Amino acid sequence: MCRSASWNVPGKPPANGRSDVKSRGDLRRASRGLRFRLTLSYAVLFAVLFTFVALLFRQRLDSVLNQQVETRLDGEWKALKGYMRIERDPDYNYRFTAAWYYDTDDSDETTITLDLRKIYIVTDQDGNVIPDWKTKEPAVSTAYQDIGIDKPGDIKARVRAALASPHSNSFFWLDRKTSKGEPVKIRWGVVYAEGHGAPFYAAIGASYAENVRILRAYSLLYAAVIPLALLLGSLLGYFMAGRALTPVLEVARTAQRITGSNLSLRIPMRDAGDELDYLILTFNRMIERLEASFRQVRQFSTDVSHELRTPITAIRGQLEVALFTAQTTDQYREAMFNALQDIDRLSQIVRALLLLSQAESGQLVLQKSRLDLCQVAGDLVDQFQIPAEAAGIRLVADLPAECPAIVDRVQIERLITNLLSNALKFTPEGGEVRLSVASAEDSVRIVVEDTGKGIPTQHLPHIFDRFYRVPGEGTAPAPEQGLGLGLSFVAWIVKAHRGRIHVDSTPGKGTKFTILLPAGGVGTDTMELVGRA
Ligand code: ADP
Repeated sequence: MCRSASWNVPGKPPANGRSDVKSRGDLRRASRGLRFRLTLSYAVLFAVLFTFVALLFRQRLDSVLNQQVETRLDGEWKALKGYMRIERDPDYNYRFTAAWYYDTDDSDETTITLDLRKIYIVTDQDGNVIPDWKTKEPAVSTAYQDIGIDKPGDIKARVRAALASPHSNSFFWLDRKTSKGEPVKIRWGVVYAEGHGAPFYAAIGASYAENVRILRAYSLLYAAVIPLALLLGSLLGYFMAGRALTPVLEVARTAQRITGSNLSLRIPMRDAGDELDYLILTFNRMIERLEASFRQVRQFSTDVSHELRTPITAIRGQLEVALFTAQTTDQYREAMFNALQDIDRLSQIVRALLLLSQAESGQLVLQKSRLDLCQVAGDLVDQFQIPAEAAGIRLVADLPAECPAIVDRVQIERLITNLLSNALKFTPEGGEVRLSVASAEDSVRIVVEDTGKGIPTQHLPHIFDRFYRVPGEGTAPAPEQGLGLGLSFVAWIVKAHRGRIHVDSTPGKGTKFTILLPAGGVGTDTMELVGRA
């Protein structure tokens, strides 16, 4: 009966359990693969992010430190202009000297001017170092000499460039190194002698070795921290991926335990309200649906074997009677006749079952065409008039002039026939059966009502099930009942037409079946089976 070959035979473990072990191994391997891939993704992401942040930060630090030196030198340049003047040498009037003006009693001024003269040079516009006003020594510090005094040609070119620029007071920067390799930033500019138009060249410098050290220390620190952070991040990623995947493995493990015989198993919800909970919910719902259809299949096979057993036992009885006890031709005939009747019932069941299973498995395709439902219903009522009269039941048709719809004629005839024959079957003499059809804008309503014995409330939800018959006085079905397949057909036909069916019944008073079909053959996807007593 089981349609899917991949399901285990209920109750049987997989042969020697090897396939289960194998799939569990697969599960572990798959989860490890996924975990590893997730961790690797984290690691790569962290590495790129850390490197990017490190480079960005280093670049920012470099520019801040650089700016600091430049700001400092900028301040010193202003101080130089305040404390130093280019003046004629009082002894040799033809030449100019660099004279420093500050209060020797003021320790601050003394320190400032000493600092200014740590790395400095003053030349004329041709690049010749001029003497100091006081010492008559060249106005260039030892530290500057260590860096290397600029070639006169270079200085000359710089002065010319500065004078040519629209901002002649502008200054420029140079990067130099001491003999020990320490980096020094130089700021140079043009200064003028008092009362004399010729430009002079002055430059001051400051070491920024400390900045380079800070940058190097930062780089080293980061180079050491990045692998450590990467390691920690990867471990954390591995741990988190493991945690995230645990419920998935749980789902897979439960899924493995589920077989045709224990479909009642459900995966416990985690109540986290996340995607995994949604997965579990979807999975559980799928198992619920599977369980329902398995139950249906089992019930169906039980019902079928039960239904077939009764006529087969009867046939066997008739044949045994014929074989062992019948003596006259009439007795033989009677036994054969009874056996044939049971065979008829048997083939009726088989035919109905075949048709129903074809319908439910989608092999029976509707042949829809535009037709007048009122005419179809009227013809059927005419056919049922004779048996209705014979049973002493008034059969009434309540039909408008026209009710067009796109439906399958054969199936709609089967639907009305089933409902009418049920109504006649379960209505006593003197009762009434009414068939009405009404057309709305985009739907057609078919109503079959009777004044028969009605259906007790507790049976209403089951009357559309296969082989379901409302028990009579005891637990056995009432004698007038048939196979219990008629309403299953009706339900399928309504569903196939995307319609709805509703049943109202009052025991002892009557039953009313209402069917709503889309007139154009297009409607909602749902079929409603509603019962009310
Ligand atoms: P059956 O072949 O037995 O009529 P159906 O599937 O057509 O099978 O109906 C299922 C059961 O529903 C019937 O056996 C009967 O007990 C009940 N039933 C159906 N229609 C009516 C009705 N109009 N009045 C009372 N009971 C009904």
